[in-house]
Parts: sequence; C-alpha cells; structure tokens
Amino acid sequence: MAPLRVVITGGAGQIAYSLIPLIARGLVFGPDVKVDLRLLDIPPAANALAGVAMEVQDSLFSTALEGVLATTNEVEAFTGAQVAILLGGFPRRPGMERWDLIGKNAGIMKRMGELLETYASPNCKVVVVANPAQTNCYILSIYAPSLPRKNITSLSRLDHDRMIGMLLHEANSRLISDSAADGSECVRRLTAADVRGACIWGNHSNSQVPDVSAVEFFVDGRWVPIESVIPDRTWLGLSNSLPGGGNIGVGPEESLVEAVRKRGAAVLAARKLSSAMSAANAIAEHLSDWLSPEKSGHSPAVSMGVTTDGNPFGVSEGIFSSLPVRCTIGGDWNYDEGFSMTDDVRRHLEASVVELEEEKATALKMLEKAEAAAGSVAGLVPRPSL
Ligand code: NAD
Repeated sequence: MAPLRVVITGGAGQIAYSLIPLIARGLVFGPDVKVDLRLLDIPPAANALAGVAMEVQDSLFSTALEGVLATTNEVEAFTGAQVAILLGGFPRRPGMERWDLIGKNAGIMKRMGELLETYASPNCKVVVVANPAQTNCYILSIYAPSLPRKNITSLSRLDHDRMIGMLLHEANSRLISDSAADGSECVRRLTAADVRGACIWGNHSNSQVPDVSAVEFFVDGRWVPIESVIPDRTWLGLSNSLPGGGNIGVGPEESLVEAVRKRGAAVLAARKLSSAMSAANAIAEHLSDWLSPEKSGHSPAVSMGVTTDGNPFGVSEGIFSSLPVRCTIGGDWNYDEGFSMTDDVRRHLEASVVELEEEKATALKMLEKAEAAAGSVAGLVPRPSL
C-alpha cells in the first residue's frame, strides 16, 4: 500500500518536535500504516528545520516512517497530502492586540486553504492547532471550498484531556483516602478509560465550557455518576447555589472549570514555554481516534473543533466550535446526540459562541483589508452551509 502522505506545518516548532516521534513510532495512524512525512516551515526557520530532519534520521525510526521531507516550499509540502496537521502560525508578540493576532493568522490560513484546495488530496483530513484554531478552520473552509467541511477539524482534545487528567487526580485521591480510612484493600487506580461523558464546548480560549455534568466513572465494575466519587459540586462547577442557576467558572477557590481554562497559562508560567508535549499527545489522540484503523469507530465520545452546520445541539451555524463527536470507521465522525446541555452550560456556551462569531467577523475584515491593500479583486464569498 502506498504510504500515507502527511504534512505538518510549523515543522520546526516545539509541538512538531514532540509529535514527530509519536507518528514515526506508529502511534498515530496505526502500526501498519507507513507514513511519508512532509515538514514545512518558513524560510527564517530553515536551519532549525534542517536540524529536526537530522534528528529524525538519527533516531532510526523505521517502524512507520517511509520517508521525510523537510522543506520551506509550500507546494512541495502540500502536494498529495492526505492528512494536514497545521501547527504553523504567527506567535503573539508583546504589545500585540488579540485582534491583530487573528488578522495575521487569518492571512496564513488563507494561504493554507489555497494550498489544500490546489495541491492536497481532495479528501485530505485536516487538524488545525495554530490559534485561533476554530476561526482558522473557518478561514480554511472558505479558501478550500472543495474540501468537505467535515474534513476540517481543530484541536480541543488538549482541553478535554486536561479536564480528564484533573478529574482522575481528584477521584483517585478521594478513592485512595477513603479506602485508607475504612481499612479496605488497596483500590484500583482509575485511568482515562474509566471516565466517560466529559465534553469541552465552544472556543479554545478562556470562554471554553468544560462540562462534567454527564461524567461517569467506572468503579467496582459499574459506571457511577461523578458526584458519587467527587461530591464537591462547587469545585465541579455544578452548584446551583448562585443566582442565575449555576456557577460554572465561579467559586471561592479555583474550580475545575477555571483550572482547565487556565492550564495553558499555568504551564507557560512554570516552563517559560507553552504546552508542547501534552499538545502533541492530544493531536496524536485526536488523529488516531479519527483515522487509525485500530481506534476509529471504537472510541468513546471526544471533544473536537468541528463545523456547527447541522449540529443537533442548537449551536449557531456557520462557525467551528468544540462539540462532542464520535469518530466512525473509515475516517468520519458524527455529533454525539447522546449529549444534552444543562441550562447553565448552554448559557456559558452562548457567550463562547458570541466570541467565535466576533473572531470570524474580525478575521474576515482583516482579510478584506489585506486583499484591498493588495489590490485583489477576488471577493470573499463564504460558501453556503453544507
Ligand atoms: P512554535 O512557535 O514553537 O512553532 C510554530 C512554528 O510555525 C515555527 O517554527 C514557525 O516558524 C512556524 N510557522 C509560522 N508561520 C508559518 C507558515 N506560514 N507556514 C509554516 N510554518 C510557519 O509554536 P508551537 O508551540 O509549536 O505551537 C504551534 C501553534 O499551536 C501555536 O499557534 C499555538 O498557539 C498553538 N497551540 C494550540 C493548542 C490547542 O489546543 N489548540 C495547544 C497548544 C498550542
């Protein structure tokens, strides 16, 4: 079988550095799938990219890697791509407004969309990681109009996994201290496979809505509601004690919701570098659940940034948002209709959707300005919803 052609933009960046070994060891697309890897970066990063290519060679990855091309030539990188992992973006610089960043990255995503449209496989599967990830998906969908919108996704799996990691930490601490208190035998530690029903809704930003209202743990051979293991409704963001009917993100101490929202900033403050290992792992999970023959169709519901067109949750159409989906065999996914939103989650999600709509409007305005400045006559005509 011909190898799977995978392009990674931002190939010299820090997430790529952690992601390449996972792909090369067959942990993303499956152990039997050979990968032809194309690493793209911009010319100022050419030396760093060459260094990455040297390290790939030195690592003797032979399991899943058929070949590696490190290049600053966009056409060479995107030609025939069957999977595109878009990490490349403009970083936020001191003094830069959030809206300037959206404009800069919209220009990059416009170019990525054109490359996908013209050179990639017509069924290329895309995961956008570069921020603002969901709005970047929207821009791609305009400039790659032939690509099915369902093929364009963004990473919200990192937020999802952060939430599960925090839940597991809390649940295991409680189970272990309960068993020590009643003198029972050592308890089995819960793992990610023992958690279901978690979801991140909305934008990959501080407005995201981590939702544990439907979470269950697998304890002693059966699924039990989250509160039977973690009864602290305030920490979970489930308390109805405040006016307005809920306290997601509010509490005397940092709630789970706040901790998930601020986790990226906490890692940055501690490491002086942004999350890269966990981001790479989340990308690997996102892609393997979606595309690997071993996992697709067998995984539980996960959070993915996807088109809102035709969603069953009542989220406004015409944007991309993190929603619960189930990946199906053969590289497709469906909204998980088993999820229903509490009134509180819906209220917070509405605020996140407003932010996504503002980002989209800003990105379009910035692109129009740039096109006008460049004397372009090509109008921006968003294609109708599928
Ligand atoms: P990084 O700065 O280490 O690497 C980015 C790389 O992209 C650089 O090598 C840069 O030269 C390259 N690049 C810039 N413009 C490019 C272009 N037009 N074409 C190709 N390459 C280009 O950043 P990182 O830590 O690897 O993070 C990558 C992106 O992922 C950032 O935008 C970051 O904010 C985002 N991120 C998102 C999530 C998420 O959950 N969605 C999590 C972590 C990071």
